[in-house]
Amino acid sequence: RSSTAESYDLVVIGGGPGGSTVSTLTAKQGHRVLLLERGTFPRYQIGESLLPATVHGIARLLGVDQELRRAGFTKKRGGTFRWGANPEPWTFSFAVSPKLAAPTSYAYQVERMKFDQILLDNARANGVEVRESSTVVDVIEVDGRVGGVRYVDADGGEHTVEATFVVDASGNTGRTHRHVGGERRYSEFFRNLALFGYFEGGKRLPEPYSGNILSAAFDDGWFWYIPLSPTLTSVGAVVHRDAAEKVQGDREAALNRLIEACPLIKEYLADARRVTSGPYGELRVRKDYSYCDTRFWRPGMALVGDAACFVDPVFSSGVHLATYSGLLAARSINSCLAGTVGEKEAFQEFERRYRREYGVFYEFLVSFYGMHVDEQSYFWAAKKVTKTPLPELEAFVELVGGLASGDVIGGTPESVADELVGGAEALAEAADGSDTSSGELHAKPVVANAMAESANLQAEILLGAEATPLFPDGLVSTLDGLHWTYPRASPAPR
Ligand code: FAD
Repeated sequence: RSSTAESYDLVVIGGGPGGSTVSTLTAKQGHRVLLLERGTFPRYQIGESLLPATVHGIARLLGVDQELRRAGFTKKRGGTFRWGANPEPWTFSFAVSPKLAAPTSYAYQVERMKFDQILLDNARANGVEVRESSTVVDVIEVDGRVGGVRYVDADGGEHTVEATFVVDASGNTGRTHRHVGGERRYSEFFRNLALFGYFEGGKRLPEPYSGNILSAAFDDGWFWYIPLSPTLTSVGAVVHRDAAEKVQGDREAALNRLIEACPLIKEYLADARRVTSGPYGELRVRKDYSYCDTRFWRPGMALVGDAACFVDPVFSSGVHLATYSGLLAARSINSCLAGTVGEKEAFQEFERRYRREYGVFYEFLVSFYGMHVDEQSYFWAAKKVTKTPLPELEAFVELVGGLASGDVIGGTPESVADELVGGAEALAEAADGSDTSSGELHAKPVVANAMAESANLQAEILLGAEATPLFPDGLVSTLDGLHWTYPRASPAPR
């Protein structure tokens, strides 16, 4: 190793939601983290419709939930679909899931330029060193494991950084994912193209669903219609590769033809005007975006977000998978750096949970593309792929809310524990100094302390997955949600 190279506990490649999440949750544990971002923020990105698991679960762990609330993003209470055999649009609401009882039964539609900036600034505020205009060009190997990166700065200067761990969160255009040694497998089923742009003045769904994502199927594919503000709408057509000629040539003419072919979107855009200047002025195309790498980690390196996998956008799972995998990777890194869990076990747990969540969306989406059935069949398919005892509609809402793993819930480990333990601690405090004159049993310190202990247990029980591993021989997350540990029944082998 060169003695002049800088050295960190973790180097993260990419400052999108995946990179911001893993870097913040590692820095919060006091580790030294460097994040290298090729672009300069704010930068454009597609992927504007979020899930409740991100905006309540992971955002709370990151400590940005209040800031997101203040940012004034559109509230998304669910989704409205003109889809399948039913000729009429149908709507689902996140509120039908008991796990998403108010006040967490919504997500946001976000302008990614603003959302990603909030997450990246929060990483900085939590001690992550962020360098923009810094492009990672290579990954360094030391004795068979990844040990750092080389990057080029805005002036063309090349730098070497050593690191105990490298996380590749460079999105779908990055190349560094190859260093984990796997292959990228493109989905044969979802060989789709998307053509998208922005409109001012489009129609809104009636309240309380004006913030819903509207998805409308038509002969050649489907449209997304995402209300980003009271007047700005993100509109995109997804068509199968076989119909690729329909999006070739002049993009404006192609989009107009597709809108013409989809009566519901045509009606919603009747009085709207396409944005033609600024970052939203361009009509963009993305193709072959559904893939999954065969390996998600190797010693010293892990892939999160689009660097690892992505599946069709119909249920807005991209940012959820990026932030969820960022959380899983942070747990693994924090545990390894603390020396509490071995690298292999920690990253196997990361990969298994990540693949499971991806697999649930993938399998469900395959069923959802079957257009000849009605919504009841889609709800049933959600129950089948998640293997949950819940009724069909709740199974569907948990899946599309990002809650199928049972790992990230509306209230995070921290917030649930705080609520329960906080209440009991308040009792203990009140009882301290022993004003037991009231004769109330719970006012006696010994009882109040026992209650605090049982509240702790109750918090663990509420967290479900954390009391029992998700996989029979797997690990569980600690109560703060930031590490892995061994389940109580089977202590760590010595
Ligand atoms: P990104 O957000 O792509 O961030 C990666 C960052 O890495 C970038 O800022 C990039 O500049 C940087 N980078 C790249 N290479 C390097 C390098 N060599 N060195 C340093 N930095 C580098 N998701 C949703 O949740 N909801 C949706 O509604 C939705 N709609 C979509 C529609 C379409 C058509 C598509 C294709 C995707 C959609 N997605 C959606 C998915 C979403 O865009 C992604 O899943 C999400 O942005 C992934 O986040 P990330 O952090 O992994 O990567």
